[in-house]
Amino acid sequence: MRITIFGTGYVGLVTGACLADAGHEVMCMDIDAQKVARLKQGEIPIYEPGLETLVTENVGQQRLLFTTDAAEAVAFGTLQFIAVGTPPDEDGSADLQYVLAVAKTIGQHMEDYKVVVDKSTVPVGTADRVHEAIAGALGERGVSLDFDVCSNPEFLKEGAAIEDFTHGARIVVGTDSERVKALMRECYAPYNRRVEKLMFMDVRSAELTKYAANAMLATKISFMNEIANLAERLGADIEQVRRGIGSDPRIGYHFIYPGCGYGGSCFPKDVQALARTASQIGYDPQLLNAVEAVNDRQKSTLFEKLGQAFDGQLDGKTVAVWGLAFKPNTDDMREAPSRHLMEALWAAGARVRAYDPEAMEECRRIYGERDDLTLVGGRDEALQGSDALVICTEWKSFRTVDFAHLHRTLRTPVIVDGRNLFEPDQVRAAGLLYFAVGRGDSL
Ligand code: NAD
Repeated sequence: MRITIFGTGYVGLVTGACLADAGHEVMCMDIDAQKVARLKQGEIPIYEPGLETLVTENVGQQRLLFTTDAAEAVAFGTLQFIAVGTPPDEDGSADLQYVLAVAKTIGQHMEDYKVVVDKSTVPVGTADRVHEAIAGALGERGVSLDFDVCSNPEFLKEGAAIEDFTHGARIVVGTDSERVKALMRECYAPYNRRVEKLMFMDVRSAELTKYAANAMLATKISFMNEIANLAERLGADIEQVRRGIGSDPRIGYHFIYPGCGYGGSCFPKDVQALARTASQIGYDPQLLNAVEAVNDRQKSTLFEKLGQAFDGQLDGKTVAVWGLAFKPNTDDMREAPSRHLMEALWAAGARVRAYDPEAMEECRRIYGERDDLTLVGGRDEALQGSDALVICTEWKSFRTVDFAHLHRTLRTPVIVDGRNLFEPDQVRAAGLLYFAVGRGDSL
C-alpha cells in the first residue's frame, strides 16, 4: 500500500517507519527542509529507542522516502496521514493551523480519491473542518474529486513509541464509510493479526477517545499526587498506600506513581484543550480543571522542599539536577518538571549543575549559555561542588546509588527525590536528609 505522512515529528516518523517496516511504501513529508535533509542522510532528529535502525533499514529498502515537495507527497499515497503538531493556543485550546494547512495542501494537489487520516490529537469536530478545508481548496481549483476524512488517534508513548505502535492495545478508527474501513484494515493488517485490535467507531467518538485517554491518565497522576501530599502531612507513606490500593483489581498498579508532576507535549496540552472544548460548549469541566491545578502545584514541590531544607536561603546555592527530560527514554523537555525547578532556582539566585542521559542537547537548545547553568557529562560530575541533589526524572541509571559517596561529595547532605527512587530509611541511615514525595519527610 502507498501511504503519505505529513509531519516527521515523534508521531509521524514512528508511524512512517513502522508502516514501512510492515511492508508498505511510505513517503514522509515535512515543511522543515533541514529535518528532511537530515532524515535523508539517516540522521534522526529525536531520541527514540530503536527508531534509528528502523529508519535506516527501511530507507535502505527504499520503502521509506522523505520529501518537502507537497505535490509529490499528495500524489504518492491513497492514505494521507496528518501527523503535524497541535500546540496549545493562547487560551489553551488546540491550535489547528498546521492540521488545516495540510488539509488545504491535499485539496490543492490531489488528482484522485484520497483517504485523509487524522492522526494528530484534535478536538471533536475537526474532521468536519478538515473536510471543509479540502473541499474549499478543490472548489478553488474548480474540480470535484471524491475523498474521505477519518480519525485515527495515536496512543504511543515517547520512549516506547515503536513498541506501542506495533503492539498497542487498540487501533481506533473513526469513520462510517465501508471503503475507508477496508483501506484502514489493509493498512493496519500487519498489526492486527493475533487479536482484533481495530476498533471502528464514529468520528467524533474517536476524536474524544484520545482526549479521554490522556485526561484519565493525567487524572490518575494528579490523584496520586494529591494523596501523596496528604500522606506527607498525615504521617503516612504513599508507597505503602500505593501498594494497598493497587492490589484492588478495580484500581490496579498501572500509572499510580506519585511524583513531581506530569509534563511532556501531550498531557498538559490535552487536558487543557479538553477543558477548553468543555467551556466553549458551556460545560464547567470541574474535574479537568482540578487535575491541571493539582499538577501545576505539584511542579513546585521540588523547589519548596529545597526551600524547607535550606530555610528558604537558596541564593548562592548550587543544586545538582539529575534528569531533565520529562520522563525517561526521551530527550523531550516540553513542560518538564525540571524546567519549572531550574527556573525557580535561578529566580532565587541559585546555580544548577545538570545531567541527563539524553536531553543535554535539548537543554542547551532551550536555555543557551548562561552562568547559572552548567551541563555536565555524568551524574557524579553534577554532584561536585553542589549543595544538594534533586532528582527530576526516573532514568534507570539513577536508581542505584552509593549513598556514602553521595554524602561525601555533596556540600550539604540533602536529596530531594521527585520520583521516589529510594527507600527513605536506607538513605537516611547514610546520614542524608531525604525529601521524597509523600513519604513522611515534611519538616
Ligand atoms: P512534533 O512537533 O514532534 O512534529 C510535528 C512535525 O510536523 C514537525 O516536524 C513539523 O515541521 C511538521 N509540520 C508542521 N506543519 C507541517 C505541514 N504543513 N506539512 C508537513 N509537516 C508539517 O509533533 P508530535 O509530537 O509528533 O505530535 C504530532 C501530533 O500527534 C500532535 O497532535 C500530538 O498531540 C499527537 N500525539 C503526540 C504524541 C507524542 O508522544 N509526541 C503521542 C500521541 C499523539
